Amino acid sequence: MNTDTIVIVGAGQAGGWAAQTLRSEGFKGRIVLIGDEAHRPYERPPLSKAVLAGDAHADSTHLLKQDAFDRLDIDWRPKVAATRIDRPATQVHLSQGEPVRYDKLILCNGGRARRLEVPGADLPGVFTLRSIEDAMALGAALSANKRLLIVGGGWIGLEVAATARKKGLDVTVVEAMDRLCKRTVPPVISGYLHRLHSAHGVEVLLGTGVRALARAPGGGLSATLDDGRAIACDAVLVGIGLVANDALAREAGLACEGGVVVDSQCRSSDPDILAAGDVAAWHCEWAGRRMRLESWQNAQEQGIAAARAALGMAVNHQPLPWFWSDQYDVNLQIFGMPAPSHRVVVRGDPDSHVFVVFFLDQDKVVAALGPNCAKDLRFARRLIERRTSIDPERLADSRTPLAKL
Ligand SMILES: Cc1cc2nc3c(=O)[nH]c(=O)nc-3n(C[C@H](O)[C@H](O)[C@H](O)COP(=O)(O)OP(=O)(O)OC[C@H]3O[C@@H](n4cnc5c(N)ncnc54)[C@H](O)[C@@H]3O)c2cc1C
Repeated sequence: MNTDTIVIVGAGQAGGWAAQTLRSEGFKGRIVLIGDEAHRPYERPPLSKAVLAGDAHADSTHLLKQDAFDRLDIDWRPKVAATRIDRPATQVHLSQGEPVRYDKLILCNGGRARRLEVPGADLPGVFTLRSIEDAMALGAALSANKRLLIVGGGWIGLEVAATARKKGLDVTVVEAMDRLCKRTVPPVISGYLHRLHSAHGVEVLLGTGVRALARAPGGGLSATLDDGRAIACDAVLVGIGLVANDALAREAGLACEGGVVVDSQCRSSDPDILAAGDVAAWHCEWAGRRMRLESWQNAQEQGIAAARAALGMAVNHQPLPWFWSDQYDVNLQIFGMPAPSHRVVVRGDPDSHVFVVFFLDQDKVVAALGPNCAKDLRFARRLIERRTSIDPERLADSRTPLAKL
């Protein structure tokens, strides 16, 4: 094929997988990997868990050891940002150095932590968590202080709450919605998470946001909530979601809708430009709608799919979505895309730490999730993938082994 140069923008998880897949699929041409961070590609999940807790070194997050990365023979440009895509000239302009020409361009530039738009949000002691540097800075603050306020009761906020409790801090979580993780899980799981954190001593305040942050007269910070309450703390973590880095694509005239719109072959509205990972929005058949999937699994699999598609191979990126979260000694996993329209069937006792929640569309299981039930979820995954018709009563009855269904 006449593809000589493949440029990847974003040296994160998806970009790293795209680069190594190009080589493992036999591509001998030039690969330029442009990343505005100083690090070679790494995985972010440990940043709110083992790395933040101080139990793992940041280097352990790298996708590849240095020598394996070197063997890929990639023209890696650390600390360099792509600033503009010139589609007529098929070039990417950079924050440093000459523009680079591409035959195929793969956008893997992810997203950034959403900022809190209130007075005082940029004070020292207010953190977000996306990169290794963020984790180092937040980790140092957790070691030096006693009181942490977390704005946002989503996955990152709750994982940091668990890590901070482990380190002995007093933790308050403020969530604007009326339950935790409302965007992604049903009330039974929100209730479980609430009880889990309360039992570990986290104060969870629902239905109120933070109106302002300020320095407290005696040291530390003070947060004023929408309902007028004041919370004293030493550090604040803002975990209120992610904004896709789609400006580069949008300014180049590519179709974007809260992310770079791609098809299941990872192709954007320009067939020479592909996208993968947190930045990409595509029609997910499991969800029945266009969406971005902010998950470890998607970053890896879509990075691989985009590389193969760039080489002209047939791909159809439609993985069954899978996400996990670790909080305290609880491992919670989600398969599929739960939706409010689904019938919810609970198997096991939701007041315990081991139960499964199934989501049915008509008589078919379309999603499942639960804490500490990895084995059951493996069966659930098969039920989902095979689109098995199932009797909800038998599903709810934990005396009937799932294997028998
Ligand atoms: C703290 C944390 C914990 C997580 N925990 C879990 C978990 O438990 N389970 C799970 O499934 N998922 C988890 N995730 C989500 C998962 O890590 C992400 O979905 C995944 O990292 C997305 O990979 P990506 O390559 O698309 O983006 P990223 O890994 O963010 O990589 C994008 C890269 O592009 C760079 N970049 C941006 N703009 C430019 C530019 N113009 N030029 C050059 N480079 C640029 C960025 O700096 C970054 O290095 C977690 C995420 C975070 C932050």
